[in-house]
Amino acid sequence: MKEILLLKDGEIVLKGQNRRQFEDILKRNLRHALEDLGRFEITSAQSTIYIRPLSDDVDFDEACDRVSRVFGIVSFSRAAMCEEKTMESVLATAPVYLEKILRGAKTFKVEAKRSDKKFPLRSPDICRETGGLLLSKFPHLRVDVHNPDVTVYVEIRDFGAYIHADPIRGAGGIPVGTGGRAAILISGGIDSPVAAYMMAKRGIKLTAIHFASPPYTSRRAEEKVVRLLEKVSRYAGPIRMYTVPFTKLQEKLRDDCPEELFTIIMRRLMMQISERIAKQRECAALITGESLGQVASQTIGALGCTDEATSMVVFRPLIGMDKQEIINIAYKIDTYETSIEPYEDCCTVFTPRHPRTKPILKFVKRAQEQAGFEPLVEEALQNLKITEINA
Ligand code: ATP
Ligand code: MG
Repeated sequence: MKEILLLKDGEIVLKGQNRRQFEDILKRNLRHALEDLGRFEITSAQSTIYIRPLSDDVDFDEACDRVSRVFGIVSFSRAAMCEEKTMESVLATAPVYLEKILRGAKTFKVEAKRSDKKFPLRSPDICRETGGLLLSKFPHLRVDVHNPDVTVYVEIRDFGAYIHADPIRGAGGIPVGTGGRAAILISGGIDSPVAAYMMAKRGIKLTAIHFASPPYTSRRAEEKVVRLLEKVSRYAGPIRMYTVPFTKLQEKLRDDCPEELFTIIMRRLMMQISERIAKQRECAALITGESLGQVASQTIGALGCTDEATSMVVFRPLIGMDKQEIINIAYKIDTYETSIEPYEDCCTVFTPRHPRTKPILKFVKRAQEQAGFEPLVEEALQNLKITEINA
């Protein structure tokens, strides 16, 4: 039996004249997600995107799994394509295709959508005939129109007749690449991969920036970030990662700045270096995984001091979230287990015993200026390492 995916796109509907462009990007993202699974025909009509495998050996379970992570899709249905667009063919297909799910259900109802008005039967008739047949084939079933275990959909569309059960929830959001580009400052922690996912969900194409301080941080710590980005990239598409050699800057910080300002100046340096990389990559914003009050560097005062270091917009999608809420998303996108692997991050190198929770900008800036980081910033920017990430 030939199967097909019918996708409902989401907020795209709201975008009026940009709709076409949105849909093109969504189709491109779908094509990319399915690329290595075989050949597919991806078309759109009647506010539905159709994905049809062009060969028989396609791993359709895997294709569904991939599609479930593509932003811009509210829901999708895995459907059987009837051999012909006739009532006979519908009645031959439905009980076979839905056998397993109907055996596991107690109640059902049938809904018909007839967008091809030339089809001889009207929707109520399609429902009645299909329902009658299913009741005779599966005598244990009862009809429940209000709260059925399974809804059987019969869709008579321009290109064919399709049978499916309840739709599967899609990833939501808007297609990656329709919202511009931004740079995620990514550590090996729990928060920043979640922040990356959340902004990709709003249509942002990601570039990643990671600060590494070998030998204080290990090669394994950097590999962990690559693995996290691979997980994120299953949703966000390909990501270029820049690794910034941060050791000399952190050593200078330790040697030439007051201890209680280490963290805040380090965060400012991260912003300044990231801004330079971001502009070169035509990113319009920076993204961090900060959450208000989580640690000393994430108080309102500290965040204000950090922000002052860059003229770029900084997105902090986790700002109002509790740790547990963030962890729940980390589980969902499967980054949690990797994030809790115990490797040092540069943030845990030379941590002050008593960081300032209410840093005074004037003093922070003066300390940073006196230390004079510029030559080392330039040197770090000359020595970026690039890794291309693709799930
Ligand atoms: P995370 O769980 O993302 O590590 P966190 O709660 O540990 O966050 P911090 O360590 O203070 O908080 O880092 C705050 C944010 O700064 C991170 O979410 C990330 O965006 C950025 N950041 C921290 N360390 C690095 C790093 N080594 N490279 C790039 N960005 C970093
Ligand atoms: Mg961290």
